[in-house]
Amino acid sequence: MNIILFGPPGAGKGTQAQLIVKKHNYFQLSTGDLLRNEIKKNTEIGKQIEKIISKGNFVSDNIVNDLLKETIKNLKYRDRIIFDGYPRSIDQSKELDIILKEFNQKINLVISLNVSREIIEKRIIGRITCEKCNITLNEFFNKDEINLHPCGKDFFVKRNDDNLKIVMNRFDIYTKTTKPVLDFLSNNSNFHEIDGSLEINEITSKIDKFLNV
Ligand code: AMP
Repeated sequence: MNIILFGPPGAGKGTQAQLIVKKHNYFQLSTGDLLRNEIKKNTEIGKQIEKIISKGNFVSDNIVNDLLKETIKNLKYRDRIIFDGYPRSIDQSKELDIILKEFNQKINLVISLNVSREIIEKRIIGRITCEKCNITLNEFFNKDEINLHPCGKDFFVKRNDDNLKIVMNRFDIYTKTTKPVLDFLSNNSNFHEIDGSLEINEITSKIDKFLNV
């Protein structure tokens, strides 16, 4: 089965993708990761990508699609790919169908994680970490766990979060430019929406049902 995990930044796509990979032996194809890998290699194309990503813009379809093909054509990942961060435009959605067809594959499941702007904001503002055991919890969502935490409450620190502005900016870009892709993907007969504000394990068990496990 090939799966598209769709949703705004902070919706938990990465977390769920990693759980599916671990439990069911899938391959997570994150176009963001593929692009960051190219940057690490310090190639000419990597340098171009770095400039684009640092401005928060989309990398050109030619570059992204070429990287994507490399993974799709690898027999090791046949019918076991989770697309995370792709497609981000209607053109990319159409291109994905074409590339998959070329390799005799298709999308079998589209999962959209829905989370409101307010929840994402709370997820970031409320994040606290125990300096002793390194666990990260949330002041808004994990009140009981924080009160009962074995290291005590004194070790919890809040990160000075410059992150908030960046993530909210990316959320707004998502709403403007990526969300229209949802309308396109929702025409797919295997399209399902899941409330991304649920607990991680609740979301996982809903996804498991669609995976028929
Ligand atoms: P991500 O890790 O998915 O948040 O992606 C990080 C950055 O990589 C994005 O802000 C874009 O600049 C770029 N990127 C990732 N996926 C794509 C894509 N499908 N199309 C264009 N640019 C992308």
